[in-house]
Parts: sequence; C-alpha cells; structure tokens
Amino acid sequence: MADVHNQALFVETIIDTIPNPIFYKDADGIYVGCNQAFAAFHGLNKADIIGKSVFELAPMDLAEQYNAADLELLNNPGVQVYETLVRAADGSVKSIVFNKATIQMSDGSVKGLVGVMLDITQRKQVEQDLLEEKERVQVTLNSIGDAVISLATDGKITFLNQIAAALIGCEANEVLGRNLDDLVSFVDKTSDGKLQNQPRTWREEDLINESTRMIRRDGREFAVERSLSAIRKQNGVSTGSVLVIRDISEKNNLLQQIMYQAKYDSLTELPNRYLLNERLNAALAEAKPKNHMVAVMFLDLDGFKLVNDTVGHTIGDILLKGVAKRLGSCLSENDTIGRLGGDEFAILMPNVRDTQAIIEMADKINEALKQPWLFEGHEFVVTASIGISVYPIDGSNGEILMKHADTAMYKVKEQGKNSYVFFSYYMDRKIMERIQMEKSLRHAIKNEEFVVFYQPQVRLSTGKITGVEALVRWKHPKRGLIPPNDFIPLAEETDLIIPLGDQVLRMVCEDVKRWHDDGFPSIRVTINLSAKQFLQKDLLENICSILEEFHLAPNTLELEITESVAMRDVGLTLELLHNLKAMGVGLAIDDFGTGYSSLNYLKRFPISTIKIDKSFIDDVATNLSDAAIVTGIITLAQNLGLTVIAEGVETEAQTSLLRDKRCDVIQGFLFSRPVPVEQFRTIWQENLSPAAPDQSKQQVNTQQPCIMR
Ligand code: C2E
Ligand code: CA
Ligand code: CA
Repeated sequence: MADVHNQALFVETIIDTIPNPIFYKDADGIYVGCNQAFAAFHGLNKADIIGKSVFELAPMDLAEQYNAADLELLNNPGVQVYETLVRAADGSVKSIVFNKATIQMSDGSVKGLVGVMLDITQRKQVEQDLLEEKERVQVTLNSIGDAVISLATDGKITFLNQIAAALIGCEANEVLGRNLDDLVSFVDKTSDGKLQNQPRTWREEDLINESTRMIRRDGREFAVERSLSAIRKQNGVSTGSVLVIRDISEKNNLLQQIMYQAKYDSLTELPNRYLLNERLNAALAEAKPKNHMVAVMFLDLDGFKLVNDTVGHTIGDILLKGVAKRLGSCLSENDTIGRLGGDEFAILMPNVRDTQAIIEMADKINEALKQPWLFEGHEFVVTASIGISVYPIDGSNGEILMKHADTAMYKVKEQGKNSYVFFSYYMDRKIMERIQMEKSLRHAIKNEEFVVFYQPQVRLSTGKITGVEALVRWKHPKRGLIPPNDFIPLAEETDLIIPLGDQVLRMVCEDVKRWHDDGFPSIRVTINLSAKQFLQKDLLENICSILEEFHLAPNTLELEITESVAMRDVGLTLELLHNLKAMGVGLAIDDFGTGYSSLNYLKRFPISTIKIDKSFIDDVATNLSDAAIVTGIITLAQNLGLTVIAEGVETEAQTSLLRDKRCDVIQGFLFSRPVPVEQFRTIWQENLSPAAPDQSKQQVNTQQPCIMR
C-alpha cells in the first residue's frame, strides 16, 4: 500500500517537474488533476482546479469551444491536436498547441482525457516577423511607380506588383504562375516587327532601360522601357529574373485612370479602403523599427440616414463631399483620410507622438462637423462617432487595427454618438461575450430553457400568503440557474424579451390553472413586465388570449411595472392602464421610490398595489429617514386605497417596524426566497392549515437560492 502511495507521489512529482501545462479530465469534462505548470498558467492552485469544469476557468465563448473539442474527442477516442490563442493568468496572450488524448481502459471504455499544452508563442512571433518582412517588401514594391514582375527561369510569373497587374490588365492572383509570354508581347520599336519569343535570349541577360512597345492580349499598346536583372545563386546559376517595366506613353492615360479608379472613391475622390490599407501597412512597416505609434480612426456619421431619407440621395452625396472636405481640412500633411463606403470614413495618422495628438485630432474633427448644413431650407447637423485604435497597443497588423477601431466606433454609437472612444481589449471581450450571450439566449428561448420561481407575499395582520410573485430563471444546461438580472437587460435590448415574456406568462398560467384545479384558494399572482413588453402593441390581446387558453379570469393576474417604465410616456401609460383595468387585470408599481414618479400621477394611474423598494426597507429599522419615507409611502398609499407591499424584508426588526406602521404585505427572504413551484406549493399548503403558526414571524424556508454565477 505504502509502495503504491509512494509511486503515486513519485509520478506526481515528475509531472509537476514538467514545464508544460498538463491536465486530466474525467468523461464529464471535470478536471480531476493537473500539474503545477497548468495551475500556474491559470494563476490558481492545483486544488482550485480539481472538481471544476472549463466553464469555470475560461470565458464563456472559449469554454464552449474547448468543451466542444473535448466532447468530440471523448466521442471519438484517440488523439486530438489543435492550435489556439489562450490568455494566461498574467494577461498575456499565448499561442498554444493542445495535444489531447483519451484515457481508455482495456475494455475500451473511456475514462476521460489527458491534455498537454505547448506554448509556441515565440515560434509564432518569428513566423509573424518573417511575414511582416515579406509584407514590407510587397508594400514597397507596390508603392513604386513602375511595374515589377519576378519570373522563374521558365518564364512563369512568381510575383508582380499592382502596377504590373494593372499594366497587364489582370488581377495579380490570376496571373501568378502563368507565363508572361501568354499575357503580353514586346514589339521592337524601330523595326516594328514582333520580337521572337525566345525567353532565354532576354531573360538571362541583364538589360537596362530598353525602349520597346508592349502589346496586351486585349490589343492595347503601351510605349514602355524595360529593364531586366537576372537573379543568380552564389555559383552563378540563374534562378529567375526581375523585370521592371515603365510606362512611358506620353499621356499614360489609361494606366493612370485604371490605377486611380482602383484606389480612389469616385464620389469624394478620397482614397478608398484599398489604398488606405496599403498606406496603413506601409506606415506600420515604417513604424515598427522606429517604435512609432500609428493611429487608425473609424468615423461613422450620426444621423446621415436621416438626411438621405429627408432630402434624398443627391443632397446626401453633396453632404458626403462636404464632410470629406471638412475632414480633410483637419488633417496634417502625413495623415490620410479615406472613405470606406456609405457614411464611413477612416483616418490614418502614420506617426503620432502621443495619445494627446490623437485626442486633439478627434476634437478638431468634432468641432469641424459642428457647423450645420443648409439644404433646401432644411438645416442639418451631422456629427460623427469615432473609434480609435493605436499601434502597437491595440494590434500589430492593419487588419486587426481596423477591426478594433470599428469595435470602438460601435461602442461610441452605443454610448450616445457624437464622441470618440479608444479601443480596449476589455471592450472586445465584452462585445464577444455579449454576442455569445445573445446567441445562447436565442437558443434558450427556442429550447424553452426557462423556469419560473415563486416568492410568496404575506399579509402582516394574518400571517397568511395573499399573493405570489413569479420570477424567471434561466436553466442553462451548462452554467446552471442564471438569475434574471444577468439576462433580462440583454433580452430587453434585443427584443427577445417579447417571446421570453410570452413563455413566462404561459408557464405561470399553467401553474395557476393547476393550483385552481387542486383546490388552492385564489391569490394575487404577479408577473414583471419590462419597458419593451409594456409598450408592445398587442400586449392586451396577448394577455387576453393566453388567459382564455387556460380558462383563467383576468383578475387572477397582476402586472408589475417600475415607476420609470410608467413615467416614460404618461399619456400612453394612462391609456394602457385603463384598458388593463377595464379587462380586470391588476397593476402594481414596482421598486417604488427609486424612479422619479410624481405622486400626482400615482393618483391618476388606476393601479392597485405599490411595492416599496428594498433599498428603503434595508435600513428601515435603523435609519430614521428611511423609516420616515416608508411611513410616508404607506400613509399615502392607504389614502389612495392602494395595497402596500414591502419588498426585500430580511429581518424580524424590519417586520415589526412595518407591522407598527401598518404596512399590508411583506415579501422577502425572511419568509421565503423565490422557490420552484413544487416547493412553493408545500409552503403554501402548510401556511393554509389553520394550525399553522404566524409564519410571517419566522423563517420557514432557509434553503439557499440555487443560483450559480
Ligand atoms: P424585482 O421585480 O424587483 O424582483 C424582486 C427581486 O428581489 C428578486 O430578484 C428577488 O429574488 C429579490 N428578493 C426578494 N426578496 C429579497 C430579500 O429579502 N433580499 C434580497 N437580497 N433580495 C430579495 P430576482 O428574482 O433575481 O429578479 C430580479 C429582477 O429581474 C426582478 O426584480 C425583475 O425586475 C426582473 N425579472 C424577474 N423575472 C422577470 C420576468 O419574468 N420578466 C421581466 N421582464 N423581468 C423579470
Ligand atoms: Ca417585481
Ligand atoms: Ca421590486
């Protein structure tokens, strides 16, 4: 036995000595072991990892990815190798190759998997540097005015720059690998006779500035000068050649035009996305060795669509030209402004000293756009939302910098436009998380992953349950129960609250119907409505039809809306509330005291209940001013004939003060947390029995909420 123990310790020590992170998981994906390096990578102790799933170690989107890979491996026992980016505990991003293999018993059963992480960040960096070096050469070649073509010894094209592609009249990637002689031919200027296609004769010798005419396959002719240099190995053997062609036709019109169209926006005459990218890459290539900063600004006009819709596209175009001009006037000599399309522009600042210079530029732009535009008697102000990313902190290549500036720009739009924001990784992760969350939420609605918990409300004078609030939870298949505050705001933003609200209403009606059928007495059942739901056009019809479907009377239901929702559009609220009241549906004002409700309106709104917000109840027993506010609300409500519910009652002291102040009903953890329907039925059943003690005075449900974050 001791031997076995010693052996296990010995193995563990060996594994801990290995510098690569190693982990083991069981067949359910739970970590059952790992080495020191793995724990250190996550900034945790080994003991903190064992027993956890990847969902507790990695952000949701990544965790889902890893989990999917695990599942695939477990279902197809064997080996799995893949490469991915991982953020280590110290915040650095590493390129990791995961090597995973299933742990299989002799009977073939799979017990789990073992994984090793190989950090290839450094190797990747070298590859990246090489790639950048190559890009630098390409950018340089693209930026010179001559056509440059590399040829293999057999005459096949191995590289060409953009000018060369334009000169030949094809896309660069179409002609790579093709023989130059199939695309153009050169004609002797003096004899006017076609040169023999004898590649060797002119490919192997160096030529300098030989004048000739070049004829393309489409028949177009150019007067050109060509130079050729052979590329030789050290032993003198030629491995190919570089051909440089200069267009010397007098006006050179066609080529100029083609090049121009490919690189400039026809409306504003600003560089287009293509040219901007090219300049960005050139700027990065230059900045890298010198340690300069390069800034990219993404700029989207606010309210441009309104102009287009009001005065039409012609004027919209004039406005875009005007904006382009104003923006141009803000730039300094080395900056580039380009139009990316529509009302999107980008500015490249190739050599910035410090962030202050970027801020000054953004301010200058906002200032320049402030001046209103006058068209056909309409006055427009078109502001801009500007997202900014900066090399090297926000990305090392052009593509990522552009993407991040775009992300930051969306953040500005989200925050109310007409401003600028610098990109931050946090933003990117937040947006990713949000997108992921929205996806899972959509899926959850389709799969009906929601459950309703019930929290009883107790009448203080009798200790009996007089109502119950329905509170939704998301039963996430992997993350467990998710509380509403973590998903209702997103559901609200994405309009998913409408189908979700329908599901909640339906589940509640189903439960209520069963209570009726099982002989429970009628009590007030309340459902929360958020702003979007309340303002939904067919709210009334919807509620009506669901109630009818379950044969329930409208007065079984009470809807809760917050003060701020009610006050958003008082006229509309009044109309809606009257209609609901006419139908027989009860109404409560939730979180009372936290919004800016006017007591005047309270009088005019046909409501039946107000719920005093938990924040006033928290210190009601100890803080005199809170006690005074609560007393005031109770008195007022009673004068208006409304029921008052105190929310979030957690202590005896609060209960006895509320009883003194003649509060009608309490709701809170002291009596019961929100619980699943079966448990609520049990609590209710006990509360109904005549022998039951006054339960408002004692805690009957001490169970912790089953909420996992
Ligand atoms: P709410 O309407 O103000 O609901 C009361 C919240 O306070 C509930 O949180 C409840 O669990 C909690 N609570 C009750 N008593 C106590 C207590 O004694 N101490 C403490 N600390 N908390 C207490 P929950 O269930 O997490 O719901 C949060 C919010 O989510 C709700 O606030 C409501 O605005 C929203 N919500 C819940 N279900 C739905 C729904 O079906 N539709 C909509 N639109 N919103 C919902
Ligand atoms: Ca509520
Ligand atoms: Ca509330």
